[in-house]
Amino acid sequence: MKRFLLAIIFGTAVTTLASAQDQSTQNQIIQTLQKIADAPGPSGFEEPIRKVMVDYMKPLSSSLRYDGMGSIIATQGSTGPRVMVDAHMDELGGMIRRITPNGFLTMQMLGGWLDQALVDQRWVIIGANGAVHAVTGIRDIHVVPPEERTRVFSRDQLYLDIGAKNEAEVRAMGISPGDPVVPDSPFTVLNGTENYLAKAWDDRVGCAVVIEAMRRLQTQPHPNQIFWTITTQEEVGLRGAHTAADVVKPDIGIALEGGITGDVFGGHAEETQVRLGAGPGIFLYDSSALPNRKLVAFTKETAAAKAIPLQTDLVQGYGDDSAELQKAVGGVPTVNLVVPIRYTHAHNGIMNRKDFDQMVDLLVAMLQKLDAPTVERLRDFTP
Ligand SMILES: [Zn+2]
Repeated sequence: MKRFLLAIIFGTAVTTLASAQDQSTQNQIIQTLQKIADAPGPSGFEEPIRKVMVDYMKPLSSSLRYDGMGSIIATQGSTGPRVMVDAHMDELGGMIRRITPNGFLTMQMLGGWLDQALVDQRWVIIGANGAVHAVTGIRDIHVVPPEERTRVFSRDQLYLDIGAKNEAEVRAMGISPGDPVVPDSPFTVLNGTENYLAKAWDDRVGCAVVIEAMRRLQTQPHPNQIFWTITTQEEVGLRGAHTAADVVKPDIGIALEGGITGDVFGGHAEETQVRLGAGPGIFLYDSSALPNRKLVAFTKETAAAKAIPLQTDLVQGYGDDSAELQKAVGGVPTVNLVVPIRYTHAHNGIMNRKDFDQMVDLLVAMLQKLDAPTVERLRDFTP
């Protein structure tokens, strides 16, 4: 009886310990996601997010360097095929174009924004004296003529209001033309669900996948050299990936991105096919790249062997870093893998935690299988 009781007490203690560990890993990942999503860093102004990423990556890598456009290249492993894993750290944003005499600011957008996403939003300008809060105002319905009420308000008519009454006050706040602007949208766990609301999941979700996969592969074997590459300036034309691939000279390229879900607004199955919470996705087509077919098959086989659901997606009018990787050093087999995101290229996006965890599982499993014979087979085009 006593022994039985002891076993129960001991068993409970072990269970409690295990769930406490689960809980702490869980919290650690939420904290990582929050820190990475909240860090500012539109294209060309990646300093704050670069610092966050380097702080996470440096202790996990055997070497860490930068290319000439500021991308981070960290390595794990020193022998075997060169596998480049890419995620971009820049986010959608803008920069100050002009200060008006009455203290308003106009904005040059960075990356692809819909005009309708810009109105009536809060923004943060990173000025010389630090963060300055701003709003793109909206006209009141009482003064807008009925025929204009359903019209989209053009970005050319927008001003950032920072509460200043003239140019001198704007300057005194440390703002000048060229300063970066980012959405003001703090990370939020959405009502206790597995869904997380934040700005910049494109592509901070990919950056977070990199950190979690690096953590796992620090203690697990892999038969290759992994070049964890966090690129700059993706949103303005895949610019950082181009130069980073020059430095890495990969044998295989894997891009990690935020996908676009087609599960709201009545569903647009011909535009995009992935759904939130249904697992990671693989791109079979986008306007910038066609994936290597053997590498697609390899990804599908790896997912199936691990019982990870893998969604497929074909999207027109989408570009990603894998397009630059595959054109480097005489041609590289690449794939673009995505964590599905709702409401991309906007102030507020939603990611699903299970999709994220399964993406990490899939990536780690792929990297553990990419040994020299496998890479040689993937790179072989002999008929
Ligand atoms: Zn992206």
